[in-house]
Parts: sequence; C-alpha cells; structure tokens
Amino acid sequence: MTSSPVWHPFTQHALQPTAIEIMRGEGAWLETREGTRLLDMISSWWVVTHGHRHPRIVQAIKDQADLLAQVILAGFTHAPAEELARRLIARLNSSLAHVFYSDSGSTSVEVALKMALGFWRNQGEQRTKIIALEHAYHGDTIGTMSTGARGVFNSAYDPLLFDVVRLPFPHEGCEAATLDALSRACADGAAAALLVEPLLLGAGGMLTYAPPVLRAMHAICAASGTLFIADEVMTGFGRTGTFLACEQAGVTPDILCLAKGITGGSLPLAVTLCQAAIFDAHYSRDRAKTFFHSSSYTANPIACAAAVANMDVWDTEPVIDRIAQISQWHSGFLDRFRTDSRFSGIRHCGTIAALDLRVADEGYLAGIGPSLYDFFLACGLLLRPLGNTIYLMPPYCVTEDELGRAYAAIAEAADTFGRGAS
Ligand SMILES: *Cc1c(COP(=O)(O)O)cnc(C)c1O
Repeated sequence: MTSSPVWHPFTQHALQPTAIEIMRGEGAWLETREGTRLLDMISSWWVVTHGHRHPRIVQAIKDQADLLAQVILAGFTHAPAEELARRLIARLNSSLAHVFYSDSGSTSVEVALKMALGFWRNQGEQRTKIIALEHAYHGDTIGTMSTGARGVFNSAYDPLLFDVVRLPFPHEGCEAATLDALSRACADGAAAALLVEPLLLGAGGMLTYAPPVLRAMHAICAASGTLFIADEVMTGFGRTGTFLACEQAGVTPDILCLAKGITGGSLPLAVTLCQAAIFDAHYSRDRAKTFFHSSSYTANPIACAAAVANMDVWDTEPVIDRIAQISQWHSGFLDRFRTDSRFSGIRHCGTIAALDLRVADEGYLAGIGPSLYDFFLACGLLLRPLGNTIYLMPPYCVTEDELGRAYAAIAEAADTFGRGAS
C-alpha cells in the first residue's frame, strides 16, 4: 500500500504513509487482509449502529440492487424513498412532516441552512443570520465549516467562510451565559436560525450538556420566531440513549438533520426533515420559490432500502434495551477512572463515553492523539482520540467483554502516556 494513489481523509500522508487494508467486517469487528482482527470502538467513524453487516440490511441491499439501483428523484419517485420517509415520520411522531434527501451529514446541514434562508426570503423577511455554538461541528463543506468551530482544520479556507453568531458552549455552571447570548442574538429579529448538536458535540471533543439547556435554547428561539435546527447527524438513531437526543429535552426542532446511523452504517444517505411551515413557504406557483437543491444520487434506492431495513431492525429488535445496557456498562467501567487523577472530564451520554487524559506537557498535546491511536491499534482496537480526549462509541452489538477490553487498554494507555508516566 506504499504507493497508493488514494488520498485519505484527515490524514497527513507524510506522517502516516500506509493505510490498513480491511477485507471484512462482522459485528463489532474489522478484519485486515492479513487476518488481524480489530475491535471497532468508534463504529467506523460513528456510522455503524447495529454492527457491521447486519443480515437484514445486507439482504435489503441485495434485493434492491436486483430491482432498481438509481433513478432521478426530480419528477420521479420509488418505493424505498416513499416508505423510508413515512417510516421516519411515523417513528418521530412529531410535527416534522416533510423529508428531503441528500447523501451525507454535511449536505443534510447545508440543506437545513438553505431551507431556513429560503423560508424567510420567500416570505419577504430579511433574516439571514445563523447562530451556532462554540466547539460546534456540522461538516466539512464551505457552508458547514462556516457554522462550525474555527481552527487548524479550516483556517486555510477562512477567506471563504461566512460569519455566524457564536454562542459560548454551555459548560456546567455556565449555562446562563449561553442562554443570555442566544437571547441577545435573537432580540433584533434578524436571526434566521439556531443550528445546534443536541446534548453532545461530537467532533468538538465529545462535550455534553444537559437536556434542560437544550429545552431553554429551543424556547428562546420559539419566542422570537428563530428557526431551531437540530443537527442529529451523529446523535440520531440512538447514540445518546434515545432515538433522537431532542426527545430527552422534549423539543421538536423546526428542521432536523439525520445521516450517520440512517442506513445502520451501510451506505451513504442523509435526510433533512422539516415542519410544514418550511415546506409551505416554498410551495407556490412561482417557480422562483422552488427549493433549489439536489445532488445526483438524491434518495438512491439501494441506500433508501438499506435505511428501511434499518427501521425494521429498530421496530423488531430490542435496540433501545441494548443501548441502555451499553450505557450501564459505560457507567460501571468509568467508575474506576473517577478516582484516577490521570484522567479528567469523565462523561458519558448513552452509548458514548469520553474522558480526557492529562498529559505531561501541553505542547505535546498535538502529538498525543496519534500516539494514542497507534497504541490502541497495537492493542487490537480501533480508537481515534480527539487530542487527549479518548472516547468510545461502539456499535450496539458490542458485548461487555469487548467494552472491557477497550477500558483495559485505556488504563494501560494512562500508564504509558499519562502525566507522570516515564
Ligand atoms: C459527522 C457530522 C456531520 C457531517 O457528516 P458527514 O456525513 O461526514 O458529511 C455533521 N454534523 C455532525 C454533528 C456530525 O457529527
């Protein structure tokens, strides 16, 4: 693999010249070409929910491939797109009434932003400001990078990024500052929408905040008519303990973005759901009010069929019970780290657990992530720490024993890399 033409994502090829070739996936495991097994504790970048190759999803993909692989969705439709939209709406059982398809989390957020801007413009209102949280991550396109936290990952593109109103992250005890900033941002009636990751900010460092804060943010938006966009690209499909994180705060967003877990992690697909008012603002005999967004593979039939099979899994298997079990296991395993001074910020939310390893030298921080990554690989674990933040986001088929292995490796990592380690 030394002279591969493949340019890998988020990879500095000068430091990481070779990639590990994976031949097969099964449950929580990946198998390399050489036959080495790796425990996939990040669900292959947060997408695999029930485990690799869930039989029901695999079968649905095969069956749909035999019927229809692709058709234009403008002016045409197909059963998997229709059924998936109905099944999602039925499961959410809320006022979210319309489903717009795209292909990735980033596009689902782009679509949400465009829906929000179109909603106001089509009604002749000047509301174009977007409000977002400190440490947010909403994707890697120019639009979604604009709404996300600024840093080394996007400084090269800064000249192209648009401004947003940035709210301080609602750290425990500082929630009032976030809510006050939101109230101020909404006060002049120029805000189009607030865009938030509910309860847990993923790429920003697995930062959690409590449901009442989310509820309060929603209430402030509702009072000023500011649209509330929930980016549940990562938190959706059970990650935080409930099907949607928003459920825990009892809020229904005006616009909802879903992607990662939608096909159980088998194929790329995304949806942006919205309330009737958003669709209605684009509903007109005036073609200029059309929602102008599409990608070539919008609602790809095979991806939609995989997503329908995923909904079947949710309807027929005890998925929520598995998630509750994982959450309980996390609590148990994390307890032993609470008294370990080499760690801080021990937290968990549903299936996701995170803790920060105190490292000897702050300057070393930039290198600690890759060092930990290599250490865990050598232990047979796929883990991708965010700097010194080690997190686990296993597929829902993970066993207590498999989780235990990961936690044992984290303890070992502290012996090797923790502050005071030689
Ligand atoms: C991963 C992620 C995205 C982007 O999704 P892609 O499918 O990688 O484009 C957007 N928002 C959140 C919260 C995410 O975690």
